[in-house]
Amino acid sequence: MTDEKKHRSHGMKSRDLSRSHGRLAVRATRKPRELLSDTPDLVGAWRAKVITLFPDAFPGVLGQSLTGRALQDGKWALELIDLRQFGIGKHKNVDDTPAGGGAGMVLRADVVGAAFDAARPGTPTDPNCWPVIYLSPRGKPFSHDMAKKFSKAVGVTILCGRFEGVDERALEEYNVQEVSLGDFVLTGGEIAAQAVIDATIRLLPDVLGNADSTLDESHSNGLLEHPQYTRPADYKGRTIPEVLSSGHHGRVDKWRKEQAKQLTKTRRSDMWDRYTMKDTKT
Ligand code: SAH
Repeated sequence: MTDEKKHRSHGMKSRDLSRSHGRLAVRATRKPRELLSDTPDLVGAWRAKVITLFPDAFPGVLGQSLTGRALQDGKWALELIDLRQFGIGKHKNVDDTPAGGGAGMVLRADVVGAAFDAARPGTPTDPNCWPVIYLSPRGKPFSHDMAKKFSKAVGVTILCGRFEGVDERALEEYNVQEVSLGDFVLTGGEIAAQAVIDATIRLLPDVLGNADSTLDESHSNGLLEHPQYTRPADYKGRTIPEVLSSGHHGRVDKWRKEQAKQLTKTRRSDMWDRYTMKDTKT
């Protein structure tokens, strides 16, 4: 039995240094250099290295459906780095009280830094090729454009925070970009990490069954998506707009575009303003 299997079957998650998922994924070990030498297969696959106190929360929902299949098929790889292993002392402490006082605990700079060091082997230093991200409510709001940028990178390193957050010095030292899922506060970065990874890998070639399906989705063309319908033809007296059964592609496209514009105008005036500005420029 491999060590990994042993850990899994005994549920020894705290001893498990880190885990990874998918055909091409590898385990990080105490010797991060092994990541390079042991992973010739990883070349080419988009990779996410996630630093977390809760590696068992992964792949989570990313292990399901299209993203799960793509992970199995080696179209992307997930490597988990357990922050706890870099903890200090017998109790592997990762956090301490905030300097200057106040509520809660802060993740230590030296602990987080050691995790970033462990994640570094095999990653390009250019932040466009390999963004290093800390998920944080203070960050730049995550968007379709950001997902597109990340999907064009070789991979990303993502730090999931907990408690009151992370010592600022680790973020400065490792040139970390802060990315926010929205104007609300989560308990930890793990759900946000899964959202960012999901939105990014669906833009990788071949991850979605139909390459066209990302083209006219909400946000990809500056508009919200038109309404969708399927069977039954009559649902509690509500029928499907006639044009959709016309078989006339031109009319269907026109109708959809009109609906998308209407929805965007009424629901998202900010997007609508950007869309109409773009229209007048071109
Ligand atoms: N004290 C911090 C919030 C800490 S919440 C502040 O006020 O800014 C704990 C962790 O959850 C954070 O470190 C971050 O990793 C994650 N998190 C919380 N809200 C988030 C959001 N909107 N987007 C992304 N990550 C978030």
